[in-house]
Amino acid sequence: MNSPYLVPVAQLLRDVPSRTEIAFDAEFDEPHEFAPRGVAETDVFPEATVRVRLRLESFSGGLRAKGTVEAPWHGTCRRCSTPVLGLSTVAVNERFVDHRGPGDEEAYVIADDFVDLGPLAHDAIFLDLPLAPLCREDCAGLCPYCGIDRNEATCECQAPLDPRWATLDGLRFTDFEPGESKEV
Ligand SMILES: [Zn+2]
Ligand SMILES: [Zn+2]
Repeated sequence: MNSPYLVPVAQLLRDVPSRTEIAFDAEFDEPHEFAPRGVAETDVFPEATVRVRLRLESFSGGLRAKGTVEAPWHGTCRRCSTPVLGLSTVAVNERFVDHRGPGDEEAYVIADDFVDLGPLAHDAIFLDLPLAPLCREDCAGLCPYCGIDRNEATCECQAPLDPRWATLDGLRFTDFEPGESKEV
């Protein structure tokens, strides 16, 4: 039970209001056994280092955890399929409560005078991951006809003249812009 994610809070809960600063770097999945995730466009390696910087502040019946959680992610460029690395820095403002009452559905629960910051860190990071990252804002993508990487080379491909395709010419495909994660 030496996980840095497990923080003893008995004293905080006794002295209301009181606060403490939590700062540690730890493996993303240490030592939790989260359910296996499906293959995703963007993910965090289990052994990646997550930075947790939180202030815990007690109130009657619980704690507020406020600060940031940061983790590196990896993904695949949605246009050219090259690997993309990024960093998610997520502002966190969550509650831990002794017992869930009405309105506490979103709150985490304090167990045996400990809070477990692992699920909080996981939730924060996964909600922030970009769904469809780009290797760079102006990535030119792959040629749909010959597959060449247009960032590195040009080709002579043109849209086929087959009249069955003509109606498609009027269509525009707009890229979906993902969230605010930094892509580095
Ligand atoms: Zn790209
Ligand atoms: Zn081409």
